[in-house]
Amino acid sequence: MNGKWAGSPETFNLVNPASGEIIGRVPRAGEEDVKQAVEAARKAFESTVWHEMEQTKRGKILMQIATLMREHFDEISKLETLNQGKPVRESKADVAWAIRAFEYWGGAADKIQGETIPVTSNRVTYTLREPLGVTAHIIPWNYPLALATRSLAPALAAGNTVVAKPAELTPLTLLRTAEFAQKSGLPDGVLNVITGSGAVAGRALVSNPDVDGITFTGSTDTGTQIMATAAKNVTPVLLELGGKNPNIIFPDADHKRALQMAKYAIFTNAGQMCLAGSRLFLHEAIYEKFLDELRLQTEQMKIGPGIDEKTELGPMVSRAQRESVLGYIRSGIEDGARLLTGDEPPADPPLRNGFFLKPTIFTDVTSDMKIGSEEIFGPVLTVFRFSEVEDVLRLANETKFGLYAGVWTNDLKVANRLVRGLQVGVVAVNDYLIAYPQTPFGGYKDSGIGYESGMQAINHYTRIKSVTINTS
Ligand code: NAD
Repeated sequence: MNGKWAGSPETFNLVNPASGEIIGRVPRAGEEDVKQAVEAARKAFESTVWHEMEQTKRGKILMQIATLMREHFDEISKLETLNQGKPVRESKADVAWAIRAFEYWGGAADKIQGETIPVTSNRVTYTLREPLGVTAHIIPWNYPLALATRSLAPALAAGNTVVAKPAELTPLTLLRTAEFAQKSGLPDGVLNVITGSGAVAGRALVSNPDVDGITFTGSTDTGTQIMATAAKNVTPVLLELGGKNPNIIFPDADHKRALQMAKYAIFTNAGQMCLAGSRLFLHEAIYEKFLDELRLQTEQMKIGPGIDEKTELGPMVSRAQRESVLGYIRSGIEDGARLLTGDEPPADPPLRNGFFLKPTIFTDVTSDMKIGSEEIFGPVLTVFRFSEVEDVLRLANETKFGLYAGVWTNDLKVANRLVRGLQVGVVAVNDYLIAYPQTPFGGYKDSGIGYESGMQAINHYTRIKSVTINTS
């Protein structure tokens, strides 16, 4: 906070999900701490030290953060794995993504511009893009660093000052990045990170009337609460929420790649992904063969601590998250879905204390089952069978979510019909898990409001002043 480490009378433990061991302790920020963080950000904003800094220089500071992160690449990747649990191979991809995002927004800092608008010959009319002021960022635990960076970097590039609250389970990589930011020349008070619970610190942050913009990434339930809170202060919100994403495979698709990606689409990060391909739609012509091979490959996945380079499936983030997923698995069985594989913690003694869960596949799932309609957020795949394009389109859209979709076919007509008909914010054709810092990402329906990444994200972190000068 304000360039200094701050304590708090209360702390909480951080746990390694692979072993259940305590790996650290951080302050539990209370309402007063949050107030001070917002005041520090406000003071830094009013000082103009950041938003009136020459834009190119501002961009260079963001680039320098990326440089320091690259120098500490292995350290940050391991830290992410120890705190969050995911395989270190995946953490490396996340850290690389975060570095690219700082570079993208570092390069963009001097390209955030308004426009001139023709009105009459004696008037000059133009728009200025101004930062909002103090922006609040609430971050989930599934991609702690990448998702923090996704929103902090554009906010900073636009000249805002920031208060960020990582999820209580996973604050370490963002705290480390804040150190790099300070070493890179980011003025004190421009980036403040508070550790604490959603119920106290998160709530205090989003209800603070001195916050000018809120970015929330997390569950749809929390997002709706935050939107209601923000409404009281007329604060704009960007909501990146949950998903129940269709991954649709036609018989003419590249079988090997579609199979490999169907597996990654659900079991990467132990399924704890907003864009998880959690509903697999298989055409009836390939249904049996595809499923047999998928089951085989799934059962061969190497489960273990994420820190082991060979691990393919790490633990879930917490015991509570595993319990929640086990509850969904029980409900799937009760509702009559067919359990193809998985469903329980692995029996290996070395894994006993970690929060592991075998990769699980259900078939014969319908959209009215809990497992077919709610976001499970774990390594559980639900499989559906289809025969016609229009049927699969209807089934894929039969959900309150609308975040992401995968379509696997080489038939352009079919691909185009689905791309246009799917009610989702992001579609990948013959691909999955694709999200670059330069491509817009956001949800339709209950999956969110607004877009992160890509230049249009700047619309959320700036406001427009419309100016007219009468020259007569
Ligand atoms: P969550 O909603 O429980 O928590 C997210 C964050 O909100 C945490 O930092 C938490 O402390 C905070 N929070 C909780 N209650 C709050 C309150 N009342 N006021 C303010 N802050 C509060 O979500 P989670 O379990 O951490 O993350 C998983 C969810 O995130 C899934 O639904 C997933 O789909 C979604 N997600 C979406 C995207 C996306 O880009 N659309 C990306 C990642 C995750």
